[in-house]
Amino acid sequence: MPTYEFKCLKCKNKFEISESITKYDPKKIKCPKCGEKKLERIYSGVYVQTSSKS
Ligand SMILES: [Zn+2]
Repeated sequence: MPTYEFKCLKCKNKFEISESITKYDPKKIKCPKCGEKKLERIYSGVYVQTSSKS
């Protein structure tokens, strides 16, 4: 199951949320550390892993 990565705008904590939760009720997503609901979505997969450099 794919997961979404979020960053808390308050404490800068990064955490992952499973896709099923974001579809179910995105408003219930909050920082597990401080409880802040203002989160920044981090789109993983945008960055290409630099395994080799030519
Ligand atoms: Zn937080």
